[in-house]
Formats: sequence, C-alpha cells, structure tokens
Amino acid sequence: MEINKHYFDTVIIGSGLAGCRAAIECINHGTVGVLSKLYPTRSHSTAAQGGIGAALGNEEEDSPEWHTYDTVKGSDFLGDQDAIEIMCYDAIPTIIELEHMGVPFSRTPEGKIAQRRFGGHTREFGKAPVRRACYSADRTGHAVLFALYEQCQLKGVRFFQEFQVLDIVVENNAVQGIIAVNIKDGSLHVFESKAVIIASGGYGKVFKVTSNAYASTGECLSMLFRQ
Ligand SMILES: Cc1cc2nc3c(=O)[nH]c(=O)nc-3n(C[C@H](O)[C@H](O)[C@H](O)COP(=O)(O)OP(=O)(O)OC[C@H]3O[C@@H](n4cnc5c(N)ncnc54)[C@H](O)[C@@H]3O)c2cc1C
Repeated sequence: MEINKHYFDTVIIGSGLAGCRAAIECINHGTVGVLSKLYPTRSHSTAAQGGIGAALGNEEEDSPEWHTYDTVKGSDFLGDQDAIEIMCYDAIPTIIELEHMGVPFSRTPEGKIAQRRFGGHTREFGKAPVRRACYSADRTGHAVLFALYEQCQLKGVRFFQEFQVLDIVVENNAVQGIIAVNIKDGSLHVFESKAVIIASGGYGKVFKVTSNAYASTGECLSMLFRQ
C-alpha cells in the first residue's frame, strides 16, 4: 500500500481554538502542518457561546487579582495557582490581541469591548457578581475560531482537513511524528516532525450525558499514554 510522506517543523493535532492559536505562534519558527478529523472551523470550539473571562474593567471596576481568586476557588483549590495567576493577568492582553486579529467582539455604547456576567465572576473576592466575560453576541467561540483560522491562512499554515490521526510515532523515547488516514479516500499519511502538539480537545464523550460534540472522544491522549 502506498504511504504518503510529509515533513513539517511542527505538526499540530487539532484545529480548534488551541490548535489554531498554537499554529499562529509556531509559524514564526518554521513550517506548520495542522491535522483535523473535522473541517477545521467545525471543531467543537464553535460551540462556546458565553464569553472569555478577562478583567478589562470596561463595564465596572474589576481586577485580575479578583479573577485569580475566583479561578482558584472555582477549581476547589486543586488548580495550579501559579498557572492560574499567569492566565488571569495574561487574559487582558490576550483579548486585545484577539481584537487586533479581527475578532468582532460586542461593544459598549462608547465602543469599548462589552462585558457581561458569567458564572463564577465576582468582585472583591466573592462579594458580588462582576461583568467580566468578553463576548461576541451568542457565538464567541465561532467568532474567535474564524478569526484565528483566517490568520493561519494568511501566515501560510498548512491544513489537512478530515485527516484522522491513528497513532503517534515514538522512537528513542522521543516523538518523531504521527500517522494519519485521509477520511475522504482512505489513503495513509506519515508526518515526520521535530515537534508534535496535541490540541485534540476534550474527552467529554466518555460520559453518557455531555454537551460536548460527538467528535470530543480524546483518542489522541490515549495514544500518548499507550506509548
Ligand atoms: C456547550 C459548551 C459551551 C462552552 N462555552 C464556553 C464559553 O462560553 N467560554 C469558554 O471559554 N469555554 C466554553 N466552553 C469550553 C470550550 O468550548 C472548550 O474548552 C474549547 O473549545 C476547547 O478547544 P480545543 O481547541 O482544545 O478543542 P476542540 O475545539 O474540541 O478541537 C479539537 C480538535 O482536535 C481534532 N481532533 C481530535 N481528535 C483527532 C484525531 N484523532 N485526529 C485528527 N484530529 C483530531 C478535532 O477535529 C478538532 O479540530 C464550552 C464548552 C461547551 C461544551
């Protein structure tokens, strides 16, 4: 059977928000191939509606310290507190960065990025709700994913749509690449790479009842644990 070979400096499994954002970063350092078993903009990320927490304070006073507190408490104190702090402080420039990449955020009457209430967002360490979620009407994930996908196209990221990753190749204790099947015609493809990033989404379908998409089956993580 003929096997098609490809080489990229970085191979990314998944073209949701995580995969597309990683691709935009990696393309500054070499060639990037992104594989997705779905059409890229059909990734589960399009289902996210409510918004993104960032203490911009556009609607009322807010602070990344309060955001950090809410997130640590929201994780029942099990989350990595240093990582949470970085995430909450970085959320502010990240929203501005997304805006500059073309995400059409909803606006206040003065033209600032609008913010609304969302579960777990509070002021002064849990005293009252605060408007912290930045949103794009009721399709935030959809709007962000399309903007990131557009940026990937502009920067020359190569997409392999409807390519299902079957296995991760590990040799000498290091990941060397991946094996995938093109769902459309059944052809087999080997992707060699210096680095492989797994951005294949959640594992929600492990539960009988879930709001996750049917594609959220987590098989790439199982491939890694099997190695
Ligand atoms: C109903 C709902 C509402 C939500 N609302 C919000 C919200 O308002 N705000 C918020 O911040 N978060 C929200 N979330 C959470 C958020 O949507 C997810 O955390 C986020 O979209 C995950 O992004 P991702 O890029 O990691 O994964 P995904 O978007 O799921 O992308 C996974 C990618 O991996 C690919 N893939 C998987 N396996 C393979 C394979 N074997 N071979 C090839 N490709 C593969 C898929 O094709 C896809 O491209 C919501 C979640 C749900 C379920």
